Amino acid sequence: MTQPVLSLWINGKAQAAASTRTAEIFNPATGQVIRRVPLASRQDVELAVAAARAAFPGWRDTTPLRRARVLMRFRELMQAHRDELVHLICEEHGKTREDAAGSLQRGIEVIEFATGVPHLLKGEQAEDVGRGVDCHSLLQPVGVCAGITPFNFPVMVPLWMFPVAIACGNAFILKPSEKVPSASLRMAELFREAGLPDGVFNVIPGDKEAVEALLTHPDVRAISFVGSTPVAKYIYETAARHGKRVQALGGAKNHAVVMPDADLDFTAEALVSAAYGSAGERCMAISTVVAVGAAGDALVAKLRDKAARIKIGPGEQPDVDMGPVITAPHRARVQKLIDSGVAEGARLVLDGRGYRVPGKEQGFFLGPTLFDQVTTTMEIYREEIFGPVLIVLRANTIDEAIQLVNGNPYGNGTAIFTRSGAHARRFERDIEVGMVGVNVPIPVPMAFFSFGGWKASLFGDLHVHGMEGVYFYTRTKVVTSRWPAGEEQGPSSLSMPTH
Ligand code: NAD
Repeated sequence: MTQPVLSLWINGKAQAAASTRTAEIFNPATGQVIRRVPLASRQDVELAVAAARAAFPGWRDTTPLRRARVLMRFRELMQAHRDELVHLICEEHGKTREDAAGSLQRGIEVIEFATGVPHLLKGEQAEDVGRGVDCHSLLQPVGVCAGITPFNFPVMVPLWMFPVAIACGNAFILKPSEKVPSASLRMAELFREAGLPDGVFNVIPGDKEAVEALLTHPDVRAISFVGSTPVAKYIYETAARHGKRVQALGGAKNHAVVMPDADLDFTAEALVSAAYGSAGERCMAISTVVAVGAAGDALVAKLRDKAARIKIGPGEQPDVDMGPVITAPHRARVQKLIDSGVAEGARLVLDGRGYRVPGKEQGFFLGPTLFDQVTTTMEIYREEIFGPVLIVLRANTIDEAIQLVNGNPYGNGTAIFTRSGAHARRFERDIEVGMVGVNVPIPVPMAFFSFGGWKASLFGDLHVHGMEGVYFYTRTKVVTSRWPAGEEQGPSSLSMPTH
């Protein structure tokens, strides 16, 4: 059967791609190809950039208040189309309905944040920085911005970027993951319906070819990327070499440190949800537990019992806790990593390999897997697995645990479970990670804070959304002014003033 082929969204309408290359989109729960996606070519990127460049001056000159009103209508349409968007997320990614709805909500909150843009764009002002001299700053849009997003949050991660960029007066080109492009294309239609002028928001599904064209295009001024670390590093280096500002968020290996004084039932419940939710395919998933001292044995027993009760199946089916992983090759990679854990001597407490859902034998399912007695030299510790696999390491003291977490190259999220304020404070202060939870397993900052990791989890300086997002999508201009009255003299010396 021939599958329908999606379009690109350029200049306010669906357009057939110039590219003849396409990719298959799977429903991971059935293993079936449901549609095909064009892989945008350099020529397609040229058209998108030209449309964005043409739309930019008019949008920049639209007052922030009017821009905010378009975002308000967009927010209403996103709410009104919740079910449809949730379905697209579940269908192409495999998340459960509840989880998909939660990720949509987190994304909508970024639109809500961006509707405050008249306030957010207020610069600073100081009177009398010198005698009769005042100073103020302006936050002005950078121009055409581009976003490149991963498969694991088809709606939320694009929404981390484009509402803020567009609210700030920029035009935007989104290159969504070729595995989950439909929700992005639908959001573009809704944004147009909300009154966004044509060309301000463009969506071009594609792969490396489209990305490279964006990274090297002289008219693209800023690149936001979210995805794996090797690609993030390449994006950062290439875009920076071409004179662009870049924020490139990478992969993760998020540790939870569990102190012996923690409430172990509460902790185990939180960790099972954080490790296996969305089949472990979250950049903020807890994939690694560091059990300190006596916490270990009891915690592992509780984790095993709770993980074994997880209900696995198609995400859109009621009462399912965990859906499939994204593709068959990804499932094979996760299974291979589990094999390596066994071969390297970790204790396999729960084995999710070979899990099949009756009636959905072609789906890309895996059961929850739990390893204990893992060491830092093992591949299952060194690699980001990005599947439903939780590993437990042991440490004797909080110092040892902090050292272990800080020794990991990633620094996206982490959490400590404890009843001690002193332990929590020590952890919060000394841990080298961008987002920290205290008895909160997935400490994702709300839209009005900024989201970003440290070390190999972020290349660049500014995090996404919140005020850092506003700073990323604007250039600061500082104006110093004097209005001399007739009798006042201008500077008479060639030297810099000493007062
Ligand atoms: P990925 O790096 O494979 O792909 C991300 C994007 O880059 C996609 O749009 C893809 O088309 C493009 N891409 C892939 N390979 C490329 C290449 N060689 N050259 C140019 N572009 C390329 O990531 P993924 O598998 O879609 O997503 C999972 C990864 O994303 C995980 O590592 C996860 O931790 C990470 N992630 C990080 C965050 C965060 O906030 N730090 C959030 C979500 C996901």
